[in-house]
Amino acid sequence: MNNNLADLHVHLYGCLTPEDIWHMARDIEIDSNKIDLFSHNYQKVFGRPSNYEKYWMSSSGIENIAKDYLVTSRSNFQEFQAKFDLVPALFPLNPHAPLVLSHVIDKHQKEGVTYVEYRCFMPPYFNKEELRKYLDDLTSVCLEKETLYQSEIKPRLVMSLPRDPKLFRNLYLTLHQWLQQNPARQSFIVGIDLCALEANNPPKNIQQELAVVAKNNIIHPESALSILYHVGEQYDHISLCSSLRWVYEAVTIGANRLGHAAILGLDSNLLIDTEGEEPVSERIDHISWVLENSYWLSDYGIQPNSSQLRNELENLKNQPSTRKISLYYNQEYLEQFDQLQNALLKKLSTSPVVIESCPTSNSVLTDAPLNQSHPLVKFKKNGLNVTIGSDDPGIFNCSLSSELKLAESLIGPLESSERYYSKTLLAEVIK
Ligand SMILES: [Zn+2]
Repeated sequence: MNNNLADLHVHLYGCLTPEDIWHMARDIEIDSNKIDLFSHNYQKVFGRPSNYEKYWMSSSGIENIAKDYLVTSRSNFQEFQAKFDLVPALFPLNPHAPLVLSHVIDKHQKEGVTYVEYRCFMPPYFNKEELRKYLDDLTSVCLEKETLYQSEIKPRLVMSLPRDPKLFRNLYLTLHQWLQQNPARQSFIVGIDLCALEANNPPKNIQQELAVVAKNNIIHPESALSILYHVGEQYDHISLCSSLRWVYEAVTIGANRLGHAAILGLDSNLLIDTEGEEPVSERIDHISWVLENSYWLSDYGIQPNSSQLRNELENLKNQPSTRKISLYYNQEYLEQFDQLQNALLKKLSTSPVVIESCPTSNSVLTDAPLNQSHPLVKFKKNGLNVTIGSDDPGIFNCSLSSELKLAESLIGPLESSERYYSKTLLAEVIK
């Protein structure tokens, strides 16, 4: 391991630990509506109330926060989100985001992290003026800290945008205009990110919007933004094979780096005899995709029965598109899954796409165990570009260093190229 400690997949608010939350929130005025909303949802998801009234009333406040907030055992995304929501409830983005960023950069500097890309949510409920101020304030903190620490740490920002195409379009436009109006600050914002719920947000829905980003990247290389895409992390809303397809589609519509893509490396033995479901519309999309891509899938031994698939397609077109199809993952299904997974691993290993793998996060939010069945092992075996991230170290009770050690225990020594991808890489992609 060399001296460059780079974290390319970390969410700003997910960096706060129970200790941070306790110390930072005790002196601020808490918005009772926001914390009540958090608590109401918490009760709905977990069937028990959060203990937020006790956080600042006794010396065991930090323990109470940890009990409500830490995610250290297998959880679904809804449970994770319900816990994560404590942080924005206590520290609404306006005006607290710069304070949180300042605190987190100090912590990373002490840890010895040298380069970090913080994913910061771009709220659709801000007006244009508020968004501009938000970007001014966040980049001011980056500039101030980089100067203070004499570039020992280079803090950069990635703006997380909603997957809804209309919201995405409006926010991206404001971001793009801000970048053109603030050339001296351009270097601090290095990418955009699509995160949160994957369900009902197939990559095809955002294709046109990402094409605009890619076009602007070519016209304005000085303010080019990497396209970072969380995909293949939540696969309970569609079939396992559709989830694999989404990973591939994210790349074909322009993603430069994939967040997690766990399904692409998951050991199918872990999924035997489990069940799933997907809507008719998704099955239609999948069959259409297989038929359209059979010309290269056949290179990897996939020979779809075209006439059978076409018959199924005709039959499905007469059914309500939202009707759920139940799935049972038996040996036969998983053999097909393995074939498709292998084809996509091979295909993507020849592309410049980078997988951002977050070992602990995957072990909690997906079926990936921390052993040779972890997706990282297949990524490495197939020669994919991989970088290790900590995702939400405050809530997962981990750090970049512990994640790198975990990764090394799974795949052996990491080279610097496996952990360091920045605008340089994007520049190569654009060329
Ligand atoms: Zn993430």
